[in-house]
Amino acid sequence: MHCHIDLYKNYQEVVSLIQNSGMYCLCVTTAPSAYLETKRRIESKNIRVGLGIHPEVVGERSNELPILLDHLPGCRYVGEIGLDGSRRFRSTLDEQKRIVTAILSESRKYGPKMFSLHSRASAGSLLDILGAYPDIGPFVLHWFSGSKSELRRAIDLGCWFSVGPAMLLSKSGQDIAAALPKNRLLTETDGPFTEVNGRTAMPTDVSIVLDYYAKIWGNDRASVEELTFSNFKTRLNLLPKM
Ligand code: MN
Repeated sequence: MHCHIDLYKNYQEVVSLIQNSGMYCLCVTTAPSAYLETKRRIESKNIRVGLGIHPEVVGERSNELPILLDHLPGCRYVGEIGLDGSRRFRSTLDEQKRIVTAILSESRKYGPKMFSLHSRASAGSLLDILGAYPDIGPFVLHWFSGSKSELRRAIDLGCWFSVGPAMLLSKSGQDIAAALPKNRLLTETDGPFTEVNGRTAMPTDVSIVLDYYAKIWGNDRASVEELTFSNFKTRLNLLPKM
């Protein structure tokens, strides 16, 4: 599950919540300079920390790319990386593309990793890039919000998808969620960047996603949970042993 544990004010409580509930969580980071410290503070039994440079901070932090590339060889989880073509971040899109491409081509030296990717208002451009690196995926697209044809392309490229409560707030997000291949479905909250009922999303809010699929598939929540957990294990098993 993709979330940003390190950015919660009460991150230690969030860590305990995850440990006590038996969930497994990928804590994606947003700045390469924060990776080691976050790993030291947060990585534990059910929690792994991803090496990332969020597209929204590329404007200020592209100079941290060498730090990220330095950590890449020993690291199995990469995220959050990707592109953001929304109005606010469009001005750095070329720089964002350069950075994602540099990370993926460097990763090729070390083999497949778990990549968690952001693609807001840029799905087509991101898929153009991902298509050139079939050997290090499959890639996990977080909160996918592209068009129907972009979704088709992503599925054809073998991408996996993580779905969170915020994605299910809109009809278009629900339609995408309903169209995803069952065997490539993972969960996320993207907290603390997202809210549930006017409060910050917590890891346990993945229950909203499980309930959504239970409803549209006519299953019970437990079997949806079993499916996403088994998908998660399948995805982990695609990683080379280190
Ligand atoms: Mn995120």
